[in-house]
Amino acid sequence: MVNASQFEIVSANMVQKRKFFDFLMFWALVIVALVLCWSLWRICSSGISYSALTIEARDSSAQWDLRIQKFGDPNVTSAIQQNQNVSSAIQQNQSNEREMNDKEEESLYRSMDQWEESSDNFYADSDFSYTVGSTVKNWDTKRQQWLRAHPHIKNYTEGGKPRILVLTGSQPYPCKNPIGDHLLLRCFKNKQDYCRIHGLDMFYNTLLLHQRMITFWAKIPLIRAAMVAHPEAEWIWWLDSDALITDMEFEHPFERYNDSNLVVYGWEQNVFEKRSWLGINAGVFLMRNCEWSMKFMERWSVMGPQSPLYEPFAKILSDVLPDRALTESDDQSALIYLMIKEKKKWAGKIYIENEYFFQGYWLDIVGTFENITKIYDAMEAKHPDLRRRYAEKSARLYARKRDRSLKEIWAGILQRRPFVTHFTGCQPCSGNHNPIYKAEDCWNGMARSLDFADDQVLRIYGFRRHQLQSVVVSPIHFN
Ligand code: MN
Repeated sequence: MVNASQFEIVSANMVQKRKFFDFLMFWALVIVALVLCWSLWRICSSGISYSALTIEARDSSAQWDLRIQKFGDPNVTSAIQQNQNVSSAIQQNQSNEREMNDKEEESLYRSMDQWEESSDNFYADSDFSYTVGSTVKNWDTKRQQWLRAHPHIKNYTEGGKPRILVLTGSQPYPCKNPIGDHLLLRCFKNKQDYCRIHGLDMFYNTLLLHQRMITFWAKIPLIRAAMVAHPEAEWIWWLDSDALITDMEFEHPFERYNDSNLVVYGWEQNVFEKRSWLGINAGVFLMRNCEWSMKFMERWSVMGPQSPLYEPFAKILSDVLPDRALTESDDQSALIYLMIKEKKKWAGKIYIENEYFFQGYWLDIVGTFENITKIYDAMEAKHPDLRRRYAEKSARLYARKRDRSLKEIWAGILQRRPFVTHFTGCQPCSGNHNPIYKAEDCWNGMARSLDFADDQVLRIYGFRRHQLQSVVVSPIHFN
């Protein structure tokens, strides 16, 4: 038991200890408050100085160099020296180029300004138009004038091929088919990959430029606008969103099309003798950026939904093309109609291509990929110079090498990678596929084609899929 006096001593001790503790707490709080005030004052008065940070970073990397050099490892020292040499060489190149560019740019902008203000500037004409129905007069001469006034913009690519503008697009709303948007994204990536490898520009459109020119007619106002927006483009390459590039190396043989203004895939006999509405395909074509094309589009669009002749033409087209399945006037039938009925006027400038898959029907193609891959693998095994690693910018050079080897083995159209695989009737976005196909066949076919094309791109990055429709990749073992 604790007696009264002992209790007093204990409690007096406790009070003393408590006072001491309170005293410590008070000063600790005062110090914390002072530190906080000082930090706030520093932040508010100085702000964050990025230049100071950069200098600090530079200083610290210089310090690092010194610290590493202290180890005295000759390999490390020479590596540092090499890095410094390389970076100073790059800086030297950049500053040389900058000096050159500054001088050139000055005179360039002066001549461009002069052109903008001159009477040659057709963009300033009051009758200049982006829309179908009013052809730009003397467009061919005007394009040439523009190219002369802008000598730094070339109408041909690095490889000396005529410059192409790729035009494609899809609807402005989300797809009804749940996998539609995913497929459209992959279809876009496919075209973008090709454009990057070949140095082409692409314009992807998601809007109707003419409210009444809907569905397959929507491309006509778009091509018309793109022609004048891109006087540097020699050709417009229209690709439906459901058309995939399945040979990432192939390039159009433009030398064949020198005398043509429109290139389509099809068969002359099926157009002029059979009069079939499937004689050509209007989902993929090349159209030359010229006055002829503007006039042709004007004539073509007279059968479109914005025209009073749209309805009567539904019947006229079916009369001329007896196998036609559609009940309204469509762009493909209208194109064939013009080739037949106004042959003298137009057909001479329309090239019907069928020596390669300028566009191929997907059902003929999607089953051939494994065999084609075997042929290409065998070809590479035989030719060591095709088995090398290379930079993406050299892909076109390797394309030419591979093409020479394909000619050696006499590879026919079905042994070569098909240039464009077109999923006609699949309608990946709406999902309203043609009832003659199973939906899975469409989606599987698209996935296989996208993978087949993507593997050709991945190869440049050193990887390959285990098989089509697989998401597992492995590094490629080059020799
Ligand atoms: Mn199509």
